[in-house]
Amino acid sequence: MPDAGGGDGPLGIFGGTFDPVHYGHLRLAEEAVGALALSTIRWLPAGQPRLRDAPRVSAGQRLAMVRLATADNPLFEVDESEVTAARPSQTVPTLERLRSPEHCGGRRPLVLLLGADAFAGLPGWHRWQSLFALAHLAVAHRPGYPLDPAQLPPELAAHCRDRFCSSPAELAASPAGLVATFAMTQLAISATRVRQLLANGESVRYLLPDPVIAYIRRHRLYPHC
Ligand code: ATP
Repeated sequence: MPDAGGGDGPLGIFGGTFDPVHYGHLRLAEEAVGALALSTIRWLPAGQPRLRDAPRVSAGQRLAMVRLATADNPLFEVDESEVTAARPSQTVPTLERLRSPEHCGGRRPLVLLLGADAFAGLPGWHRWQSLFALAHLAVAHRPGYPLDPAQLPPELAAHCRDRFCSSPAELAASPAGLVATFAMTQLAISATRVRQLLANGESVRYLLPDPVIAYIRRHRLYPHC
C-alpha cells in the first residue's frame, strides 16, 4: 500500500484481530483522531495472529468486516498487507515496512493505537522494545484494565517510565518514542462478548455496525448466527 493520505500529520496505526470489529474499536479510533491530532488512521487487521488461537473466521472475512465498518469515514483507511502476508502477524516488521522511504519514511509521526489490555501484554510481543524507535504508543483506557504503572508488568513499566508524556498533543512533535494515554468513552464491548452473544442466539444490535451484522448473518460466520 502506498503512503497514507493526510500529508505529514501523525498517522495512527490500529492493529487487531477484529473478530469481529465492533463499536469499541470504532470509538477508540474516532476519539484518537481528536485526542492525538491524527491526520489518518490506518486499520491493520491481523492475518494469522501470533499470540492467540487462529480465529474461526478467515482473515479475508475479518478484513471485509473492517472495510464495511470504516467505509464512511474519510480519515480511516484499511491496510490489507497483514491479511495477505505469509508470516504470522507481527507489529515491529510492519512498522519497519511503514518506515521505509517508499511508505512514510523516517520523519512522519507514527502512533500505534492500543487498548489498555493490549498495552499490558506488550512484553509478549516479538521484539517489543523495538517499537519505541519506530512509533509512539497511544493507549486507550478500557473497562477492566487499569493503566496504573504499579499494575503493569515491571519490565514494561521500567521501559516506559521516561516516555510517558503529559499531553497527547506532544506526539505530533517527533516521529516516535513517547507513550500517551487517552480516556476514551468507556465501552465494555469485546469481540469475545459479541461472539458469545451470537453463539447464544442473542441480539448483538448496537454493539457493532448494522452492515457488519448483516455480513455476519449472510455468511454465517459464527455458530448459530
Ligand atoms: P477479543 O475479545 O477477541 O480479545 P477485542 O474486542 O479485544 O477481541 P481486538 O481485535 O483484539 O478486539 O482488539 C484490537 C485493539 O482494540 C486492541 O488494542 C484492544 O485493546 C482494543 N480494544 C478492543 N475493544 C476495546 C474497547 N471496548 N475499549 C478500548 N479498546 C478496545
